[in-house]
Amino acid sequence: MTTRTRFAPSPTGFLHVGGARTALFCWLQARKEQGVFILRIEDTDLERSTPESVQAILDGMEWLGLDHDEGPFYQTHRFDRYAEVTKELLAAGKAYPCWCSKERLEKLREEQMAAGLKPRYDGHCRGGAEPVPGVDPVIRFRNPQVGSVVFEDRVRGRIAVSNEELDDLVIARPDGSPTYNFTVVVDDIDMGVTLVIRGDDHINNTPRQINIYEALGATPPQFAHVPMILGEDGARLSKRHGAVSVLQYREMGYLPEALLNCLVRLGWSFGDQEVFSRDEMVEHFSIDDVNRKAAAFDHTKLDWLNQHWMKTLPAGRVATELRPQFEAAGLDPAKGPALEDLVGVQAERVNTLKAMAEASRPYYEDFADFDPDAAKKHLRPVAAEPLQAIRDTLAGLAAWTPEALDAAVRETAERLEVNMGKIAQPLRVALTGSGMSPSIDLTLWLVGQERALARIDSALGFIAERAAQQR
Ligand code: GLU
Repeated sequence: MTTRTRFAPSPTGFLHVGGARTALFCWLQARKEQGVFILRIEDTDLERSTPESVQAILDGMEWLGLDHDEGPFYQTHRFDRYAEVTKELLAAGKAYPCWCSKERLEKLREEQMAAGLKPRYDGHCRGGAEPVPGVDPVIRFRNPQVGSVVFEDRVRGRIAVSNEELDDLVIARPDGSPTYNFTVVVDDIDMGVTLVIRGDDHINNTPRQINIYEALGATPPQFAHVPMILGEDGARLSKRHGAVSVLQYREMGYLPEALLNCLVRLGWSFGDQEVFSRDEMVEHFSIDDVNRKAAAFDHTKLDWLNQHWMKTLPAGRVATELRPQFEAAGLDPAKGPALEDLVGVQAERVNTLKAMAEASRPYYEDFADFDPDAAKKHLRPVAAEPLQAIRDTLAGLAAWTPEALDAAVRETAERLEVNMGKIAQPLRVALTGSGMSPSIDLTLWLVGQERALARIDSALGFIAERAAQQR
């Protein structure tokens, strides 16, 4: 039988990292078994669902590269289908209308709580109740009263729940709108889902859902309830811990490859391997190896993985993700070196693409002032001669390559009988405005010939002016 998994987010917020990890596991298991991955938007909560949130989910999934084979399906497009199945259940006596008032249910709840019992519906309308004029009833599922529900969870192992603990849950509200536990079963049946992977916050729903499958004459799928994600302090991951939305990670300059790599390791491992390409994940992942213990999201590791993937992926791929960061930083990639070249130099110097864009400003944009400390230290009268010498060499250089530039700086230093730093440091400040940049050959290479010469001239002018003031 073909494996069919689905990711079924409710569009009531952003795609958060917990959801993304669930989606990743669903996607991996489907890809691993050459199965089908379905995307279903559970938008029945009309008040809390928003089109922006649907879009954020679709964008997040696309950015992560978690492509679906079927869907996206929208539950709001399927209300007729849920109504039809509700009718079937009513006709078969497997569901019934309930006219109990809010007040009655509230009172019942209070009494049960006072008696130390778990609040549950008492089956008042189960045997057939008098319709209350002017009131639209809810529809309840007739849950079996004896026996128990047993299933083998692929993460949590065997789970057994006595039917005595389950009550007759509402499957349709007075206005006819269906509820989560019902729609999810109808959909998973209609969409042929064979394996439900979801957060373990749903584990208490599963026995109820299994009873509905059985009432509908369907074989329940397999289930795998994955543990939640914790923050570094051990509490459930939330906004308090920083970014939780997947698209926020994009904005902060992380590669999807890095985020996925970080997420796959939350609750799953393969030996002590930390770095996984997408293909390696597909090759080695199995839902059966997912741990039942909650795992903590580690930002330090994410930074490390991000740098790893910035250095390892083809520079063109990294450049694609860098482009939006340039836009956000107000930089024009056309006004400087090719982004691929930049990535090759900068990837080992920063942890994020956002930091890379910031650190690359001098290669795309002229700066107004030298950093005062760096200028004070390096743009002194003694620097004028070496700067002038390297300027003359650079002006005559035919090939602007890192190798030629390295040789030019070296030879100039030898000729003047000074160490390289005497040239490189003032040159660095002249070229970038600051005392920090990649090695001098690469800095020159990125700045480009024309701009380098102009900037050295400005630095020479700055030194001359300073000397004149001191006189
Ligand atoms: N829509 C549910 C949620 O976002 C998921 C339901 C499920 O996977 O069964 O929590």
